[in-house]
Amino acid sequence: MKQTRKSFLTTSLLAAGYAALPFKPVFALGKGSSKMKFRFTPYTLELRHVFTIASNSRSTTPVVLTEIEYDGIIGYGEASMPPYLGESHQTVTDFYKKVNLEQFNNPFELENILTYIDNIDHKNCAAKAGIDIALHDLIGKLMNQPLYNIWGFDKTKTPNTTYTIGIDKPDVVRQKVKEAAEFKLLKVKLGRDTDKEMIETIRSVTDKPLTADANQGWKDKQFALDMLHYLHEKGVVVIEQPMDKDNIDDHAWLKERSPIPIIADEGCQRLVDIPRIHHAYHGINIKLMKSTGLREAHKMLDLARALGMKVMLGCMTETSCAISAASHLSPMVDWADLDGALLISNDVYDGTKVIDGRVTLNDRPGIGVVKK
Ligand code: MG
Repeated sequence: MKQTRKSFLTTSLLAAGYAALPFKPVFALGKGSSKMKFRFTPYTLELRHVFTIASNSRSTTPVVLTEIEYDGIIGYGEASMPPYLGESHQTVTDFYKKVNLEQFNNPFELENILTYIDNIDHKNCAAKAGIDIALHDLIGKLMNQPLYNIWGFDKTKTPNTTYTIGIDKPDVVRQKVKEAAEFKLLKVKLGRDTDKEMIETIRSVTDKPLTADANQGWKDKQFALDMLHYLHEKGVVVIEQPMDKDNIDDHAWLKERSPIPIIADEGCQRLVDIPRIHHAYHGINIKLMKSTGLREAHKMLDLARALGMKVMLGCMTETSCAISAASHLSPMVDWADLDGALLISNDVYDGTKVIDGRVTLNDRPGIGVVKK
């Protein structure tokens, strides 16, 4: 039987432990005639440093900021499109012009709405995330609850976040490491012929534990294994995407021999990928811009856990909007890599903060952001 809006809200509030909480829901529902209004604005993020990984360098990232308004309440969202993912201001704008949310009059019907969004086109993952995030923010605001409460997660269990050191000249790398004094874990971008130089440079200024990301840069499995033993000796605790994402067999070979966990990032985009790759990796890196947003990210977290996999929660270069959205999943992950908003100089939101290196959720409803 189809659940009514009122019974859904009652069930959700009970699931969220509403009775024991000091929040009161905003009962803006039930008027019957309200429509969701969707708006979007292209925006360009300026990076504090030129950012170099194995495949490219850049100093800006295109994003599209989104809003869904319902009964006078606005949910915020964001699509971030680093160029290597194949989306742009143009593709996201084209996608959003096809979206008609006014056909729905209940924002709580996430499955219906997001299935409709997913079926508009088979690509456009970041564009879809921009709608998914705004919808989750809206629902949290309508219930006057932070998402982590609605999901039943413990906000005191958030992890430290890594802070990413891009590939660069030794003096710049040393400077970046010094700027990252607050962080307990540093993430090193590898996958070029300067990998050992990068590690030695970082080790000349800090002995903090490191995570590493080769971004598919290593071409040979034996070379990759030798590097993993070297990195293990140097205090690297986990590696992302050592080799080409399509080379599943060599990753499976590497997984059997590696001294540290191997995480699929480029090799695992969405829920449907996990059964295909789970034998070849110890874990997956979930990112909202790959997963099409929070709804599927939550499902990926659950499936990965059911399969005994590790989970990393990552990001693109994003404002505090998408970072805050992801941070509500962070109490449930092994590693958080949510430094995207810290790498930009023109953030437009205030949201989840990094305090003393740790992802720190606030008590605001929804994803917990306000415009600056
Ligand atoms: Mg990665």
